[in-house]
Amino acid sequence: MTILHKKSLGQNFLTDKLFLEKIINSSGIESSNNVIEIGPGDGALTTYILEKTQNLVAYEIDQELIGLLTKKFKGHDANFINEDFLEINLNEINTSSLIVVGNLPYNVSSQIILNILESDLEYEHCIFLVQKELAQRFNSTKKSSKISLIADFFSDFEILFDIPPEAFYPSPKVTSSLIKIKKNTKYKDKKESYIAFKRIVSLCFANPRKKISNPLKNIFDVMPKFSFDINCRPQELEIDNYFEILSKYEE
Ligand code: SAM
Repeated sequence: MTILHKKSLGQNFLTDKLFLEKIINSSGIESSNNVIEIGPGDGALTTYILEKTQNLVAYEIDQELIGLLTKKFKGHDANFINEDFLEINLNEINTSSLIVVGNLPYNVSSQIILNILESDLEYEHCIFLVQKELAQRFNSTKKSSKISLIADFFSDFEILFDIPPEAFYPSPKVTSSLIKIKKNTKYKDKKESYIAFKRIVSLCFANPRKKISNPLKNIFDVMPKFSFDINCRPQELEIDNYFEILSKYEE
């Protein structure tokens, strides 16, 4: 069956066997794991997942591909579900030893990751292929961003390796990165304040080039004393600085 790759669904399929193997080796999937795959596409990565475990549920938005996948993996226990992953109520998924994997559709990658981070889904870790630029925005080691602070709030985030455009068909314009997200409970005691934290971070990054004193003036009638210089930019502050803003806001 010839596949017409739908650009609107981010259908850049990974075809390079070496990279598929590298991803599966980094995934840590064992036979005892339950796996959710997001966007199995034509099943390239699925083939490798099924060599490790049969406990697989895959969500694919494209109905045509669901037909292809069901045929291709006849005889396996895998469950292919024709649904938009963004519409799934993740809090209703109750699976132990869960690993979530996917070569994510580029147009909704950040929303998929945010939905997972903000949900109560219990997972061991997630292995996602995303655009390199997005991976760097999620990673706060150099500078903070709204997305990196949210990722920090819930997880330990790691960039594993890059994959060049030629490894995909059709080739995207940009390099991709494999990322690993591990749930962390470091800030569990702050979970109740997450909505306020997110609002503060959103306000502070509304104009990331401006000094942090500008948004702070909108948050506080009287400017409190902070341990950091309020003339710096939002990206120069770390998550603890944002927690400091949060605690002064909640006082
Ligand atoms: N896993 C395959 C691979 O590695 O070659 C395909 C990856 S391709 C980048 C992304 C896949 O996600 C496509 O098959 C696309 O149809 C599917 N997709 C796009 N948006 C989706 C959504 N909201 N929910 C579920 N699947 C989606």
